[in-house]
Amino acid sequence: HHHVAIVGAGQAAARCAAFLRDSGFEGAITVIGDEPELPYERPALSKDTLTGTPEIGKLHVFEPAFYRNQRIDVLTGTHVDNLDAHAKTVTLHDGGRLTYDRLVLATGSRARTLSIPGLGDTPVLTLRSFADALRIRALLQPGIRLVILGGGFIGLEVAASAACLGCAVTVVEAGARVMGRVVSDLTGRWVTDVHRARGVAVKTGCAVVGASPCADGAVRVLLDDGTQLEADAIIVGVGGEANMALAQHAGLACGNGIHVDERCRTSAPDVFAIGDVASQFNPLYGTRLRLESWDNAERQAEIGAAALLDTLNHAPRLRADARLPDGFATDARTIPWFWTDQYDVNVQIVGRTAASDRVIVRGDRADGAFIVFHFIGSRLVGAELINSGRDRRAVRELVALGHADEAALGDVQIPLKNLSAA
Ligand code: FAD
Repeated sequence: HHHVAIVGAGQAAARCAAFLRDSGFEGAITVIGDEPELPYERPALSKDTLTGTPEIGKLHVFEPAFYRNQRIDVLTGTHVDNLDAHAKTVTLHDGGRLTYDRLVLATGSRARTLSIPGLGDTPVLTLRSFADALRIRALLQPGIRLVILGGGFIGLEVAASAACLGCAVTVVEAGARVMGRVVSDLTGRWVTDVHRARGVAVKTGCAVVGASPCADGAVRVLLDDGTQLEADAIIVGVGGEANMALAQHAGLACGNGIHVDERCRTSAPDVFAIGDVASQFNPLYGTRLRLESWDNAERQAEIGAAALLDTLNHAPRLRADARLPDGFATDARTIPWFWTDQYDVNVQIVGRTAASDRVIVRGDRADGAFIVFHFIGSRLVGAELINSGRDRRAVRELVALGHADEAALGDVQIPLKNLSAA
């Protein structure tokens, strides 16, 4: 029997292990992760976990009994220190060594942080893990002054949660607008207005230059436009970095993440990489993408497991409970998809909107539900859906097709699914 080792015990790792078993793989499976928890999903960490009662059980990918029943060994609280891709071994932090036949790297990403001169001992918090969420939650008492550095998804979600809890929140974004890299100017402004209406101060186009202590144990944050903000706590949300040290030291090809091919194979034989850590060529956009999203973790877990099974001459069993309904073009699954929830606003980003040169708006912003389609030349490359999640499937298919009748896209009388079916 073969031994599959999966490093990282997050969402992608759990899904990959389950897919291997689901396909009838009988060998040993060991999942090794450095967090104390069994694999869990992170999206709620910046939302319900902060505003409601935090319970890890609600976030688990599978119930604890699942791993026993499926004979999946999960080593929690265990950091993998080293990978030897020639000897096919991984070394655990306690010195233990495991030999594998096939290895999956699912080590995810970590929150980038900032060093702020003059901050002294005031902790700068980031949000990646359940433990981080518990620490932040403990701080979010009504009336505390919270400064959030970074107006990306996580910063804005924490801002929304904190505002709901009665904190006085200021978001500081260095770029010209919030969520700058992924949404259009008009959606960025619209979301900013939503935050302002809830009492959150949003400052764009300014950076932190330093900090100094205040008398009451708080800290004064200094911005480059001269503004001084008093804060009881600072949270940084300035993006993520791939956890690829293991792969780099083992000599695997890496860039912004671990380089994988279309089947999640790395440059080392019998080693696969999936989820946030993987940088994969996307044929539709003609470039490598490293996606930090729930959907990408699900998808690559399945792709990587199928490729792994192939090397064992074992046919993967495509999921009977396929999440994707019949008729969903396979290509549409390669279209990135991400969502964010802030207050009662749901924003979904489909495709790649970053380099677009033109947008078309469908619907009326005043209604609080609209879609912004992004084009490069005549090619439809992506869209953001504001409170319009029910159109996601159709939009994903349209982006996979890459073209659409522009007049029809802008006409709310014409259902989008009619356009993608055409
Ligand atoms: P992870 O879930 O991060 O798992 C990787 C695990 O590997 C971690 O536990 C890590 O500690 C461990 N590890 C790393 N190195 C080692 C090592 N050497 N040895 C042992 N263990 C190691 N996506 C959406 O689409 N929508 C959302 O609304 C959304 N909200 C989010 C909110 C927050 C606060 C965060 C943090 C993420 C959110 N995401 C969201 C992104 C989504 O959660 C991630 O894309 C997903 O978790 C990626 O799964 P993964 O398995 O690749 O990585």
